[in-house]
Amino acid sequence: MTAKCAVITGITGQDGAYLAQLLLDQGYRVVGVVRRSSHYGVATHRLDWLGIADKVELVDGDLLDLGGLCRILREYRPVEVYNLAAQSFVKTSWAQPTLTAQATGIGVVNVLEAVRLECPEARFYQASSSEMYGLIQEAEQSETTPFYPRSPYAVAKLMGHWMTVNYRESFGLFACSGILFNHESPLRGLEFVTRKVTDAAARIKLGKASELAMGNIDAKRDWGHAKDYVRAMWMMLQHDKADDYVVATGRTVTVRDMIKVAFDHVGLNPEEHVRIDPQFFRPAEVDVLLGDPSKAKAALGWEPQITMEDMIREMVDADLARHA
Ligand code: GDP
Repeated sequence: MTAKCAVITGITGQDGAYLAQLLLDQGYRVVGVVRRSSHYGVATHRLDWLGIADKVELVDGDLLDLGGLCRILREYRPVEVYNLAAQSFVKTSWAQPTLTAQATGIGVVNVLEAVRLECPEARFYQASSSEMYGLIQEAEQSETTPFYPRSPYAVAKLMGHWMTVNYRESFGLFACSGILFNHESPLRGLEFVTRKVTDAAARIKLGKASELAMGNIDAKRDWGHAKDYVRAMWMMLQHDKADDYVVATGRTVTVRDMIKVAFDHVGLNPEEHVRIDPQFFRPAEVDVLLGDPSKAKAALGWEPQITMEDMIREMVDADLARHA
């Protein structure tokens, strides 16, 4: 029997790598769509880190090239398509709003169109984001909480979310939108706050740095582990009905407290090293996010297993090993 195939856009990112690992473990043939760059080739370091770079198939493609996406789906005939590719860093979205709108917003339309045209029976997952809640309209955000995006990134993600809902309602696609709250891991990019902090804690501990310049450390986030969150993506597509789900831990913590967990782990006092630098503040901030994952728990049986503290310590240990 030939293995069922899953296509992942954004396979070289944090979630793409963990999801690829999960799908390989489930016996899928995993095809990743990658955007080549003349400077760097394909950035497979995350797939290498998980030891799966030679187990996935990478094909050239771009979210802005509908014809190319159609050809990929026609060739591989996937049963599941996971759209994880995006310009995903909030701060960059003010510097590159048009690019962000194209990749993070229009890109979703292209993938949905390609699925509708080439493999309408395939199940589709869209990586939506808690940033869509922005200026929060309810203390705990659920699937029914109104959105109020606060960055070009969040506006673009909202387009992707509603397009996913619309293609489900218009064309009957099995299309799910996972509204994932912040999720991190040793594979998180250095531009995101958790990894910036764990990397700095490791470098300061090893005597390779002395300070950490931060933005708004009073912001609060509901942080989970990417490994738990990609399991939720897959579970959504195994359910008998396509739907939208919040994926979160239900607990929110300040950046300040997250820093303390990282520094405590290496026996350092953050007050001796952290400096506040205005360049890391955003033009419009999302002050607090707190997700209510009860729908995912009730319908999918999904629950996070890794605490924020264990995750941050794992990340610090990985950064210590990288820098040692
Ligand atoms: P986001 O929630 O998708 O924007 O994820 P980030 O990890 O980039 O940022 C999380 C929160 O940390 C935001 O409220 C940021 O304003 C805050 N923050 C404070 N200092 C920093 C910093 O130096 N870098 C980043 N990336 N975020 C910071």
